[in-house]
Amino acid sequence: MKLAGKTALVTGGSRGIGRAIVHALAKEGAKVAFTYNSNAEAANALVKELELDQREVFAIQADAADGAKAHELIDTVVEKWERIDILVNNAGIIKDGLLAAMSEENWLAVINTNLNSIYHYCHAAIRPMMSARKGRIINISSVAARYGNPGQVNYAAAKGGLEGFTRCLAKEVGRRGITVNAVAPGFIATDMTEAIVNAAGKEIQKQIAVRRLGEADDIANAVSFLASDESSYITGHVLTVDGGLTLGSGM
Ligand code: NAP
Repeated sequence: MKLAGKTALVTGGSRGIGRAIVHALAKEGAKVAFTYNSNAEAANALVKELELDQREVFAIQADAADGAKAHELIDTVVEKWERIDILVNNAGIIKDGLLAAMSEENWLAVINTNLNSIYHYCHAAIRPMMSARKGRIINISSVAARYGNPGQVNYAAAKGGLEGFTRCLAKEVGRRGITVNAVAPGFIATDMTEAIVNAAGKEIQKQIAVRRLGEADDIANAVSFLASDESSYITGHVLTVDGGLTLGSGM
């Protein structure tokens, strides 16, 4: 088990990609705390499932945009488990719409949840990681940051900001034994993408080199590697995990 004895916090860990990440880290032996926003039932079901498997895990309701809560939660993990080794900033939402019709509310909701949360959780975790002189931070981005999508100026701006943040922080803390990376998923079948899959799943599949939609486990496997000691020479990197969706059509 490559994460035996490590401690981790995953934001938005109750469903979708976050849930698969919680599973993957716990399976590799890490103690895992995770947050959710509104669906306590899904969070509790995951805790029960992992406890039955003898894993050490707990869930806390925390809006990712709430900075005070981020600090409180990191303090809880450090008090309970003595340190925080792995932070996965996964919580994210979409509020799609063309710019001409996008309300300030929908702009700010996405920026607060998908970008400002990265500041809050990294800010809270970085001091204990620096004291321990080790740590792994993995931020979940999206291929939309680089390629853009109509209707997603808020989402792509947040994810693009996240990627810039990742590179800067990697340079700040590399000498302290902390790596900071991002994973950019392509098209992954979760609740977030359910409506698009139902409407155009077959068409999207044709644009993906490996000819299938991504699964949450595809992202969790990449995160599990970046969280491990095996990735110690990788930092400031954005790892695209998209089955070849963004390779383009060639010449
Ligand atoms: P999802 O299925 O909608 O799950 C989102 C998770 O985040 C849930 O556990 C949810 O908890 C939690 N969450 C939502 N808002 C939150 C908030 N304000 N504070 C704390 N937790 C919150 O989404 P997903 O598809 O797994 O996406 C996970 C991440 O991957 C996101 O950052 C997303 O941008 C990124 N991503 C996804 C895809 C894709 O194709 N699915 C592609 C690229 C990037 P509750 O149920 O309690 O709200």
